[in-house]
Amino acid sequence: MANPKVVVVGGGALGLATAVHLTRKGVTDVTVLEADHVASGSSGLSVGIIETQYMDRLDIALRVHAMGFFNELERDHGLDIVRNGYLRLVHDEDSLMAAEQSVATQHELGVADAAVIDRDEVQRLVPDMRCDDLLGGLWGPSDGFIDGHLYANMLAEIAMDAGARVAVRQRVSAIEPNGAGYTVRTEAGDELAADYVVNAAGAWGDRIAEMAGLEMPLVAQRHQAAMVKAEGIDYTVPSVMDYIPNSGQIGVYFRHERPGQLIAGLHSEDITGRVVDPDNYARSADPEFIELLAEKLAERLPSFAEKAGLGNGWAGLYPVSPDGKPQLGPNPDAERFITVGGAGGSGIQLSPALGEIAAEWIVDGEPSAVEGVEVLLPGRESLVGAHG
Ligand SMILES: Cc1cc2nc3c(=O)[nH]c(=O)nc-3n(C[C@H](O)[C@H](O)[C@H](O)COP(=O)(O)OP(=O)(O)OC[C@H]3O[C@@H](n4cnc5c(N)ncnc54)[C@H](O)[C@@H]3O)c2cc1C
Repeated sequence: MANPKVVVVGGGALGLATAVHLTRKGVTDVTVLEADHVASGSSGLSVGIIETQYMDRLDIALRVHAMGFFNELERDHGLDIVRNGYLRLVHDEDSLMAAEQSVATQHELGVADAAVIDRDEVQRLVPDMRCDDLLGGLWGPSDGFIDGHLYANMLAEIAMDAGARVAVRQRVSAIEPNGAGYTVRTEAGDELAADYVVNAAGAWGDRIAEMAGLEMPLVAQRHQAAMVKAEGIDYTVPSVMDYIPNSGQIGVYFRHERPGQLIAGLHSEDITGRVVDPDNYARSADPEFIELLAEKLAERLPSFAEKAGLGNGWAGLYPVSPDGKPQLGPNPDAERFITVGGAGGSGIQLSPALGEIAAEWIVDGEPSAVEGVEVLLPGRESLVGAHG
């Protein structure tokens, strides 16, 4: 539809990126309803890493597309991207082959500087890291990190400058089918008519779908991160991911925050663990998490025990689909109910691409920014099967 009335539920990275792209496509009546304040959900609690070092072609293509938008925000709006690089450690021959394939795909998609590097090069990048058990790494020198809170607020400003409305402290309480569209009601008693509703409510997405009589299989998964004081590690440390895919083990990641300070967390592919109620979960880090993180960090950064200490930790939510992939596009039972969610631990880095494609589904009736995104449609077999 050329110029529909759109109500976006959720003022996080995904909802606001969708709003920006809707205005770019000429939609003049866009309202974002946010229950609390902009980035009050996962988007303000993330570690903010943006990178393209993935294995699957679609995963890479979405992130490469997103990087174009981040670069544009950096150039035109002063988005602060710290380009410390992203390094995925490679432990075995299988991972090395996967890394080489990733580099080939990234080169094809325009990421010219992605490379597989050897152990010596890895050691040069992070002199304090234990490297004797590594074959090398998958290295993206131009990857970096941003502040999720500042980024979401920048998106809100850009959307508002382009004519969208971003209404905070407006909790959606009902979504009623109304002819071809919807009537959206808020707790404050407002009532909005919408040709399209966009469900961008992060870990609350299943509840928003339910208001419209629809189902969105989703879990809210609690994840923690912590500040690490690392005196003496005064160089810029890349974002390092030390995880062996499909190993069933818990990996560790860390990145530069400022000289002498890192941010670190734990990584696993366990989908069902740590499921919580998004309205009621512990916001500070657990002592067991801090203990395990300290242990994992000391294994990878042997100087950690002498030079470092763990500071404050916090917890936030990954909105996770049963098959681990985002959900993007019209609902099979309601074509004017658009989902943009289930982005898990990658919602900041994916948001520009997912938001643009959500806008395309609404305005053009089909996606075109990135090839092959129809596999992410809500209602797909891997969601329904996993749920039922
Ligand atoms: C510890 C941690 C580290 C992370 N690190 C990274 C990283 O390095 N890189 C990366 O890309 N991603 C990272 N993520 C993941 C990323 O933060 C999320 O995937 C992303 O923020 C999801 O964005 P969203 O817009 O879908 O959800 P949210 O940001 O949660 O936004 C949803 C919004 O909907 C609102 N809402 C809910 N119900 C209603 C209602 N009824 N009415 C109105 N509004 C409502 C909420 O208040 C919320 O603001 C991390 C997450 C955590 C927790």
